[in-house]
Amino acid sequence: TVINIGSINIDHLYQVEHFVRPGETMASNSYQQVLGGKGANQSVALAKAGGMVLHVGAVNRADGHIVAQLQGYGVDTTQINMVDQATGHAIIQLTNEAENAIILYAGANHQLTQAHIDEVLGQAQTGDWVLLQNETNLVGESICAAKRLGLNVAFNPAPMDAELTRSVLSNVDLLIVNEVEAMDLAGVDSIEAATVELPKQFPELAVLMTLGKAGVRYFSSEADESVPAFTVEARDTTAAGDTFIGFCLAELSQGATMKHAMIRACAASAICVTKMGAAPSIPTAQEVTEFLDQ
Ligand code: ADP
Repeated sequence: TVINIGSINIDHLYQVEHFVRPGETMASNSYQQVLGGKGANQSVALAKAGGMVLHVGAVNRADGHIVAQLQGYGVDTTQINMVDQATGHAIIQLTNEAENAIILYAGANHQLTQAHIDEVLGQAQTGDWVLLQNETNLVGESICAAKRLGLNVAFNPAPMDAELTRSVLSNVDLLIVNEVEAMDLAGVDSIEAATVELPKQFPELAVLMTLGKAGVRYFSSEADESVPAFTVEARDTTAAGDTFIGFCLAELSQGATMKHAMIRACAASAICVTKMGAAPSIPTAQEVTEFLDQ
């Protein structure tokens, strides 16, 4: 099982002619509400990949439909608390030029409690993975609690908080970062420098670095492996990283080798970038198998 302690958002998408200006009231050409949040996207990817995923999180009492949607994807939602605070949300202005401007409100995602997290982690089995991103409260505390219990800890520090991340790295078994996060964490301004600096600064750490259309690289004190991305026509890269993480951890939690997990995760995220949207663009395990067989 993968226990994903993560954000759940409702994204409000407004198609606009231009970003609203100070003092302006402007009509939107269209409106769409979609499930979002890195936590929720990664849970959907884990479930679609065929993994067992228990999501720990919180939404507003009135938003049971969001929980039902996650459940529909096969996510275990029994540890999503219903609270009084607003569900985390993003207000997204999208222009015809595909530019966006986003207001993010963490809301219920910052209402996790240590007692609840400890209770869930206390029921975990040896060999289970605990996955975290950086869109909830109690991130550092949860990582340390999971490690104390001897569970496998995967951390995707997005959005990056270098100080927090550096302070918990000794309790992380697998760090998953994209290029920007890797450079921020290493305190350098090129990806080449980051791949030199990270192992130097954190010799014990195992790192999965996703490199967009250049694929992915994994390095630890024992290994250094790369898998190229699959060549596809990219339409919308939203949720590519979340798809990668979900498929990779679903495989690792079921005993696959890192190399096998990386290949399936690259295939899954390649399919994801050919489709519009977040959760709906994440493929199923079967689609990934067919993609790899062709
Ligand atoms: P994030 O979306 O978090 O920034 P990346 O851009 O590194 O993450 O993408 C994650 C993974 O998605 C990559 O490792 C790669 O396998 C896949 N991917 C991303 N962009 C493309 C692309 N244009 N073509 C094929 N695969 C891609």
